Amino acid sequence: MASSFHEFDLIQWIREQCPSAKANLIGIGDDTAILQPPLNSELLFATDMLMEGTHFTFPPATPERAGRKALAVNISDLAAMAGQPHSALISLALPKSRGPEFAKAIMQGIIDLAKEFSIQLIGGDTNSWDGPLVINVAIIGIAPASKSIKRSGAIPGDWIFVTGELGGSLTGHHLNFTPLVSEALILNQAVAIHSMVDLSDGLASDLQHILRESNVGALLDATSIPISSRVSENESKQTRLQHALSDGEDFELLFTVSPEDGKQLLSQNPLPTKITQIGEITSRQTAFIQHPDGSQTSLEDSGWKHEL
Ligand code: ADP
Ligand code: MG
Repeated sequence: MASSFHEFDLIQWIREQCPSAKANLIGIGDDTAILQPPLNSELLFATDMLMEGTHFTFPPATPERAGRKALAVNISDLAAMAGQPHSALISLALPKSRGPEFAKAIMQGIIDLAKEFSIQLIGGDTNSWDGPLVINVAIIGIAPASKSIKRSGAIPGDWIFVTGELGGSLTGHHLNFTPLVSEALILNQAVAIHSMVDLSDGLASDLQHILRESNVGALLDATSIPISSRVSENESKQTRLQHALSDGEDFELLFTVSPEDGKQLLSQNPLPTKITQIGEITSRQTAFIQHPDGSQTSLEDSGWKHEL
């Protein structure tokens, strides 16, 4: 960083922005943070790293939006488990060329979203280098003991649901989405959710996580899949469906419930957001999609993949 601005100045500024520590918590300023978990609760941990050039580029992203997204994708992982976000640690690899205002702007995006979700920033690490921006967030969540929802609980006959609409996230949604925490908590109260994931890589790819962990298959109904208005109307039906299946970064929730609970959700949606039944869990351990003419094709694992 520029010599007039040191890591310590940034950390001091961050501390001033986030003064109120939660009970049972010691945050920024010591060698580690300390958290005393409430009784009868379980702690959830996740971390996700975002890299300039891969997960965002400037423009269209601003430093605030990049910071916001880094926290938002982590909150979304907690939502997928029906966990309540509690606290987070932020690690930054800052490009030396961009200076302190850039670093503050990234942190501002993180701090604003943290406040919206009552997340306490409890630590992190700040470095600068000649490379591009890298933001890593480690997040901690809390859930009542054994109330978290796993990927492994889907059973044959379950109905598969998705919140919202899918596809076209790159047009802006991936920088602006609000993680569906309260939605997940409401659903978890309303029905017995058997399995759940958040859609980061795309429906076709993320559904496979549930299927593999649960040793089951799925049959999706092509006409039921809610395609976002972000996907161009000028494309063919097939291409629009492909966008909804594999664009990724929708950050909607994909979950399975018993048919009885499924019927209840359809007759009385407890969410302000739309939910759609898109298929059923089967026992044959492969995913198929049924088309309007009655034909079934295998649902390729066609979500966006990081090249390793
Ligand atoms: P140490 O050298 O012991 O790792 P640092 O000087 O790196 O400590 O950090 C001082 C304090 O500031 C620590 O509590 C650390 O967790 C916190 N911290 C550093 N960078 C950040 C950041 N970007 N966001 C939040 N907290 C941070
Ligand atoms: Mg350190």
